[in-house]
Formats: sequence, structure tokens, C-alpha cells
Amino acid sequence: MREILQERKLQVFEKGTDDYAIECGKASTAGSVSQRACVFCGSRVVLYPIADALHLIHGPIGCAAYTWDIRGSLSSGAELHRLSFSTDIHENEVIYGGETKLYSALNELIERYKPAAAFVYCTCIIGLIGDDVDAVCSRVQRETGIQVIPVHSEGFKGTKKDGYRAACEALFRLLGNDNETPVSPYSINIMGEFNLAGETWIIKDYYRRMGVEIATCFTGDGRVAEIGRAHRAKLNVVQCSGSMTYLAKMMQEKYGIPFIRVSYFGIEDMSRALYDVAEYFRNDEIMKRTQELVRNEVSTLLPHLAEYRNDLEGRKAAIYVGGSFKAFSLVKALRHLGMETVVVGSQTGSPEDYDYLKEITKEGTIICDDSNPLELSRFILEKGADLLIGGVKERPIAYKMGIGFCDHNHERKIALAGFEGMLNFAKEVHATVMSPVWKFSPARIKNNKINLSANYAD
Ligand code: SF4
Repeated sequence: MREILQERKLQVFEKGTDDYAIECGKASTAGSVSQRACVFCGSRVVLYPIADALHLIHGPIGCAAYTWDIRGSLSSGAELHRLSFSTDIHENEVIYGGETKLYSALNELIERYKPAAAFVYCTCIIGLIGDDVDAVCSRVQRETGIQVIPVHSEGFKGTKKDGYRAACEALFRLLGNDNETPVSPYSINIMGEFNLAGETWIIKDYYRRMGVEIATCFTGDGRVAEIGRAHRAKLNVVQCSGSMTYLAKMMQEKYGIPFIRVSYFGIEDMSRALYDVAEYFRNDEIMKRTQELVRNEVSTLLPHLAEYRNDLEGRKAAIYVGGSFKAFSLVKALRHLGMETVVVGSQTGSPEDYDYLKEITKEGTIICDDSNPLELSRFILEKGADLLIGGVKERPIAYKMGIGFCDHNHERKIALAGFEGMLNFAKEVHATVMSPVWKFSPARIKNNKINLSANYAD
């Protein structure tokens, strides 16, 4: 019998065994040690890749340390985003207010770094002491001529998804600044692609080869000036739907730009992402180039994948990621390697997302929302997974369980999107699953009869 906190029972579902009525989108259960990030972190990860902006965290130093260099987010030029600035709030400001400190910090940083714009992130403590951050930002903007945008991301006020929304509201304020630069009738905005390990460049190259212009990428290798012309693109192509659908909907309402949802992970979804854009523009030349591109890329890739598949056939994988769209693609990508998904979950999935996961997974798969380390460890054991795909917070779980781990989150250094990303993914999965090191894992030596509490006490 699987033990789950009473309050979380409806957030975990085993296909074919439990009644399907998954609950999601709610606040994490107190004491469950959720794997989720806070609201502030949600907004920080979305805005972080804008490389020529100043990112100032208004709060105690811990919030800044937590998110310092949180994403790879490579830049082809400016690298101001990689510096972590904080107002370093102390007792004095908690009692007397932090507005003066914020005002001074903004002026000093703008003077020194001459950023293209500034984002000021509100953290928990700022929400509690009630600083008027909007007023300080407006004053500095007036005095310096630099756009200074408050990001209302007080950590306690919701889930990571609320942080995405705060980031979208901040981005929306940058739109409309550039009405001069010509924009092609075949232009798109890439949304929800963060250039962690150069993926934005890979994806941009595919679209360019098709004859499609990229007006803006939100926010991989992002620049403030480029964002200023995004409102004139003809189509929004949303990848990380959890983080960017809100902005896409605002742009549809105000500027009439339609949007489609795509994923750049795995063969089917990457190809679909290109075809969907080609079909939208109804241009024979673009369609012809797209077919050629996909044909060439896939025929080059498949023989390489077959080599890895020989070893990986029949192995099992657990997936726990931030957004569900990535999970969909991973389930399909693993099939190309002969692997079966036995556990899949996300931090921010919607009911429709979990419906789809249910559709594409096999009987017996555990589907979970907003999980925690103990649950994930138990699911991995119960289902005999050989691999965990997740982020930095899931890595120690995999290693303690003595199984392979693939980082598919913010911190990775290897591009996993696109066709070449699929090959990198196969190499990564193969290297970790087949590593001889697991033979020496105490967990494996006990032949899966792991005393979980002893394991965690190590
Ligand atoms: S905003 Fe709040 S929850 Fe988030 S890191 Fe700072 S103190 Fe922690």
C-alpha cells in the first residue's frame, strides 16, 4: 500500500489502478517539502536570460543567493544578467522600510552599468513590510530615463506559476517600444525558450533555414530592444507553456497576434514545431524548405539513435520536471531509445496536461503533481526505474537511489532541444544508465530492498 500524505492523495494517480481525478494548481501542502520553487524564483527564471537588463533583487541576501546564475542562459554579447544584485535587506529596513535603500541601489547600479532596462524583484519580506516599490521604480525611471519595472513576485503569495505571471506582466511593459525596425510578414516570436545551453541558437537556425524571421525570443539570449518590437510579429510560438501562455494571451488580446503551443524536445515534437509554423504561413516555399530540413535532420539522426537503443531497450525512466509540456516530449523521446516511462510528474501541470500524460503513458504509470523527495524515491523504487530525469533538486534523489540521472532543467550545460539535442539526450541517457558506478551503489547492492530511512540518514 502506497503511503501518501492525506492532503496529497488526489495529486497522485496510477494509470489503470486509481480513479482518475487528479488535483493540481493548488498551493503546496505545508510540511510536504515540495520540490517546487517559490513565486520569486518563478519570475526570476523567466526574466533572467535578458542579458542587457539590470536584475535587482529587493530583499534579504538569501533570495539573491538562491537564484544567482540560476540558468545557463548563454548570451551572444552582453552578460549583465549573470551578476546578482541585491538590496540586502536587514533589520533596520524591516523596521523603517527599504525604499531609500532601493532608490540608492538603483541609482548606483544604473550609473555604473548603463543597462537597457531594470527589473526590481519583490521578495517575501518586501511584501510583508509593504515598501512602495512601484513608486520608487517610477521615480528612478523618470530621473534616469531607463525603464525600471517592478516585478511583483513576493515568494509567499502563490505557486511558481504566479511568478511566471509576474514575469509576463513585466515583459508586457517592454512591448511597443520599437515601431520602426521592419518586421517580415513571415515573422514569429519564440516564447519560453531560455537558451540554457545554446538551444535558442539551434532553434533560430531551423526557422531561418525555413525562411521564417525571428522578431524576438522570450527570453533566451534576450535583449530589451528586441522585446520592444515583439508586438509586430505575426505569430507567437510558445514552448514553455506554463511560463509564457499568459503573455501570449495578453499579446493576442492587445495586438491580435495568434499563438500556437510547441515543444522542441524529441523528434516528433521538434518536427511538429517546424511544420506547425510552416502550415500557419501557408507558403509553398517555406513548406518545401521545412520538409527538406526535417527529412535531412531525421535521416542523419536515426542511425545514431539506434546504437544507443541497443543498450537501453527495456530500461525504465522516471520524469519529474517543472512544466508538463517538457514531460510530454520526454515520454515520446524515451520511446525512441526503447525506454518506458514509469513515473511522470511536474511542478506546474494543469488538468489538461495531466489528461494528456494519461493518454500517452502505459498502464501502471504513476502520474503526480507537485511531488516531494520521499514520494519520488518511493515511486522510483516501486516501479524499478533505472533513470530519473529532472533538475538540480532531483539529482541527489537519483544518486541516493543508485540510478542514472539526466539534468533536463535550468542548470544543464548540454543542449537537449532540436534534432542535435535529441542526439545529445541519447548520449547523456546512455552514459548515465549504463555507467558501471551503479554496481557499487549500496542501494543496488541490496537488490532494491532498500531501507529508505537508513538511506536518507547516510
Ligand atoms: S522570496 Fe521568499 S520564498 Fe522566495 S527565496 Fe526569498 S524568502 Fe525564500
